[in-house]
Amino acid sequence: MFHLILTACLAGPSAPCVPILLPQGDAASGPACMQGAARISKDWLDRHSELVAAGTECVPTENLPALDLQQVAPGVFAFFGRPVQLEDSTDGRIANLGVVIGQDSVAVIDTGVSRMQGQQFYTAIRRLTPKPVSHVILTHMHPDHVLGTSVFQEAGAQVLGHHALPLALQMRAGGYLENIARLLPPEEVLGTEIVLPDATVQDSLRIDLGGRSLLLRAEQTAHTDNDLTAFDDTTGTLFSGDLIFRELTPIIDGSLTGWMDWIAAPPQPEPRVIVPGHGDVAREWRQATSPQADFLKALADVTRSQIDAGAPLSEAVGIIVNNLNYMNKNWNSFPASVARDATAAYKELEWE
Ligand SMILES: [Zn+2]
Repeated sequence: MFHLILTACLAGPSAPCVPILLPQGDAASGPACMQGAARISKDWLDRHSELVAAGTECVPTENLPALDLQQVAPGVFAFFGRPVQLEDSTDGRIANLGVVIGQDSVAVIDTGVSRMQGQQFYTAIRRLTPKPVSHVILTHMHPDHVLGTSVFQEAGAQVLGHHALPLALQMRAGGYLENIARLLPPEEVLGTEIVLPDATVQDSLRIDLGGRSLLLRAEQTAHTDNDLTAFDDTTGTLFSGDLIFRELTPIIDGSLTGWMDWIAAPPQPEPRVIVPGHGDVAREWRQATSPQADFLKALADVTRSQIDAGAPLSEAVGIIVNNLNYMNKNWNSFPASVARDATAAYKELEWE
């Protein structure tokens, strides 16, 4: 397959440029791909007025950069991000991403931190199969998971999220785009935009990929207030999003107690393969969740004892962090994350 690549640049001398893969140009041959190049490029640039064209070309799939995907079950693949926080990463590619291939079409679970990562994810999928990407499932609002969506939407995929995702994403959109522009090189982030879901999941939804279905579940407030999980019935694979952190320190952006409750009640049937939002794949619920459950319980216990002792937030956070420091060696990016978690935990638990 050939892919249309538009070179797009910021205006001005020696301004950075990025290769933008425009999936509407996908074709079996180079000449067929070039036929639509001018129109497709113009349409895209009309919606990205900060960028100007510096040429188009059609490139075969195998010559384009692609994410490294690993098979975790038959027809199920994952990209494993480096399990550190965005601030500790050079390219922002810290989240795990998933692919499930049915007889008719492909579902993608999360899309990465930028248009660039989304494009390289798209290319990696095109190396596996020519089947259309019918669905993008966004597990929650955080930028390392959702900012590569635009390339899949342009490829014709329906974008699905938790019913609380659109509002959450709209409120955070500006901050997320500013953050990645500050933390990552311009070549990584140019062309990145916020894409809202085309449809949302109220409670649960089953999607059909042909001979294989995924069960999407809108979960209670836990990691965030818009966590959505995806379960592949055929292989028993659960994509948990950030409801499960391994190796990387969990971040509470929803509800500490809601999250502890979620972990205590494994989904039925119990998954046989668990792809967490961060860290390595697991084959069993306790293996996947017990380090995180221990962390959250310790955080809740020490925070409650500070609240009971009457410590104000400003004093309590430092004490909580010190008390939990023995866990530092078990978790990446611990010091910065645990201070945020202590603040979130205090604000939630002081109302108990
Ligand atoms: Zn997250």
